[in-house]
Amino acid sequence: MKKKIIILISIIITLIIGLVIIFTPHIKIKEENVTININSEYHDSGYTARSLVKDYHDKVKIKGDVDTSKIGTYKVKYQMPFLFFTLTKTKTINVSDTEKPVITLKGKEQVSVCPGKQYEEEGYTVTDNYDQDLNDKVERTVKENQIIYKVKDQSGNTTSITRDIIYEDKEGPKIELKGYNPMTIYKSSKYTEPGYSATDGCEGDLTTKVEISSNVDSNTTGTYEITYKVSDSVGNVSSVTRTVKVVNRPVNGNGNGVIYLTFDDGPSSTITPKILDILKEEGVKATFFVTGKSSSLDYLLARESNEGHTVALHSNTHDYSYVYSSSQNYFNDLYAIQNHVKNATGVTSNIIRFPGGSSNTVSRQYSKGIMTYLTNEVINKGFIYFDWNVDSDDAGSAKTSDQVYNNVINGLSHSKTNVVLMHDFENNYKTLNALRDIIQYGKNNGYTFSNITSSTPPVRHGVAN
Ligand code: ZN
Repeated sequence: MKKKIIILISIIITLIIGLVIIFTPHIKIKEENVTININSEYHDSGYTARSLVKDYHDKVKIKGDVDTSKIGTYKVKYQMPFLFFTLTKTKTINVSDTEKPVITLKGKEQVSVCPGKQYEEEGYTVTDNYDQDLNDKVERTVKENQIIYKVKDQSGNTTSITRDIIYEDKEGPKIELKGYNPMTIYKSSKYTEPGYSATDGCEGDLTTKVEISSNVDSNTTGTYEITYKVSDSVGNVSSVTRTVKVVNRPVNGNGNGVIYLTFDDGPSSTITPKILDILKEEGVKATFFVTGKSSSLDYLLARESNEGHTVALHSNTHDYSYVYSSSQNYFNDLYAIQNHVKNATGVTSNIIRFPGGSSNTVSRQYSKGIMTYLTNEVINKGFIYFDWNVDSDDAGSAKTSDQVYNNVINGLSHSKTNVVLMHDFENNYKTLNALRDIIQYGKNNGYTFSNITSSTPPVRHGVAN
């Protein structure tokens, strides 16, 4: 009897278990544990809910949000009611950052640096899918030929990038030409170099190393080249070329082509005798507007006069503050030099040139308007004053004999009375050295030379006081 009861109970239990197995639904999640990347889209991977005999898919409610824009662990619950219970399955979603930051270098990844110099960091930027402001977190390691940039985001993703440093000087120096290129000059004028500079990226100023070669022949019309060449210490060579065109001077007018060479402010012991030598050799007469600064040089005034030149009057003192402070001072000074010349040469000269010329603006500092008075008064007193219309600029900006030469020959014209201003003050070698070429140019181009006399048509400036 007892055995039968046990068997019966066993059968019932088995039956109940069987029913439970048959009718109880189960929720199954396809992936219970997933890891997804930040900012990617989360998709429910699906589930099943069924018992052996029935499908409960539609009864399941899914609860829980996944914020894929924030790193974290999220739980999503799949739930359905059954009898007196709630069946629950939980899915775990890890939103994580697996992407490396990206370092972008400013400048090139392979840079050339001058030998012996240090690379100057051009900078970099870091972008990351999640972390912001990683720029400050970059570790920069400088090795011999490399710079390594390394950065880690808060999730531990690490990036590194290298910049290769090549120590080399690959570029030649840069040559810059001053002045015109191409440049046009007149036939028979002298080419004067306007200048140049050479700068090397690694070695700095190499101007003094520039070598110049030129085939310019300014006596023959044509197109010529001047080549400027320079090399840095590792053999990078640069060169530039200037084109020089030599053209015929335009012909203007049909004047008698007389050149009056005039020399102011002498005599001087260093220059005047040599000028006189050249003039004698060339058979040219000139005019000297002299000063009375040194009576020990009176023998030069006598020589000027004896060799057929005009000894004209400039100023006894050549002291602007004295001669232009009053008309009385001016004439005291003028008569003093007139007497001085008379004593040295025996000639009373009435040909004059005002200190600074009649157009000078210096006199107004001492007596405003004095030039208007003096330019009339000297004529009333029987003097003839001359200015000039060809300026060698040898007391101004002309620094070389080539510049003096060019200034003179470029100012000459067959249609005018050419009164050329030059100076024979002490040590004015640039004018001395230009003189023979100026005379040659004049002779070769149909000019004649003469000294100023009282019958020479005056060349005068406007008064500007
Ligand atoms: Zn003077």
